[in-house]
Amino acid sequence: MNFKKFQEPIYVTRPFLPNLEEVNVLLQDIWEEQILTNGGPKHQELEKALCDTLKVQGLSLFNNGTIALIIACQALGLKGEVITTPFTFPATPHVLTWNNIKPVFCDIDPLTMNIDTSKIESLITPETSAILGVHVYGTPCNVFEIERIAKKHGLKVIYDAAHAFGVEIDGRGIGTFGDISMFSFHATKLFHTVEGGCLAYNNRDLKSYIDLLKNFGIKNEDEVILPGINGKLNEIQAAIGLINLKHLEEERKRRAALIHLYKTRLAEVEGVSFIDLPSNIVPSYQYFVIRVSEKNFGMSRDELHLKLKEYNVITRKYFKPLCSDYQCYQHLPSATQERLPVAYSVVNEVLALPLYGTLALEDVEIICELIHSLTTRPSVHSNKSCSNSKVLK
Ligand SMILES: *Cc1c(COP(=O)(O)O)cnc(C)c1O
Repeated sequence: MNFKKFQEPIYVTRPFLPNLEEVNVLLQDIWEEQILTNGGPKHQELEKALCDTLKVQGLSLFNNGTIALIIACQALGLKGEVITTPFTFPATPHVLTWNNIKPVFCDIDPLTMNIDTSKIESLITPETSAILGVHVYGTPCNVFEIERIAKKHGLKVIYDAAHAFGVEIDGRGIGTFGDISMFSFHATKLFHTVEGGCLAYNNRDLKSYIDLLKNFGIKNEDEVILPGINGKLNEIQAAIGLINLKHLEEERKRRAALIHLYKTRLAEVEGVSFIDLPSNIVPSYQYFVIRVSEKNFGMSRDELHLKLKEYNVITRKYFKPLCSDYQCYQHLPSATQERLPVAYSVVNEVLALPLYGTLALEDVEIICELIHSLTTRPSVHSNKSCSNSKVLK
């Protein structure tokens, strides 16, 4: 079959954009109130609404997810070493460095691509203060095993839940696991406030301390009691968040249909696999990521990435390079390829395909046919998804 190049590039994602009229209504409110930031009415309303949506007890909004995660480390008094994954966005290990904490990289699970809990304990030293897990692509970490290990060794648990907005395990919000979870509200995330983020926690006592840390440590007119930072989300961003929250279900439904189509069409392609979450998990719909087996597909992930680009289909190799490969972390003893064999192999297989609410189903059909046409292997009609019952026990 002959494929035409898409006239306009199909990007891996596009931000959700609400109707401008809706935005104007809330801007009108803000102009009347004349409160632009510092925890105004929209900010308070959004915090409450997000507690419900995420099913968490407490929540603090932030100007972005990275500052939020930096503050999470401070709020829990972390120091020394923190065990984390090399298969993530740069922000995850960087927040440790900004807290003078040494990241210790742990290899990942070959199916979930999250931190491999069977390898955590051997990395614990007297310096270890916490485990920082990442729910990569919204797939939950093995939260129960992480909890068990943390309890046994007296460690704190933080989750980078930037990809996991709305994820639930047996009806329980993903943000209720561990001591603190960070969600990012960056424009490319499923739910966004242009830039923004939050910390979620079950221990409501954390709120006043976290809110102090994000507002310069100002306790009241007369007292500044600690060296805080400016982590505040403004009223205009909070308003965008309130509007986007109203449209969240539509956006999730559209993405669910696109993912369903991807999975149906790609199930027959030899050498292409993807995660199927068990039914007790509510997925995030943040990304649709395939894994390309060069041997079975007949083409490497990198070649597929370039080939798709020729047709104007822009995919992403999230998360290449591994954090352990960055110049600033390469020297760490935990960063060597021998210690991270699974991460170093998985990172050459993953490819995020276009996924956003306004993407047309017809375009997904074409992208799948295109991928199908590129394989040198005959198609087999079996389900190629790696069933992910290992996610949780
Ligand atoms: C987006 C993202 C962040 C950073 O969030 P910002 O809000 O952009 O600071 C952190 N970790 C992961 C895994 C992310 O994808």
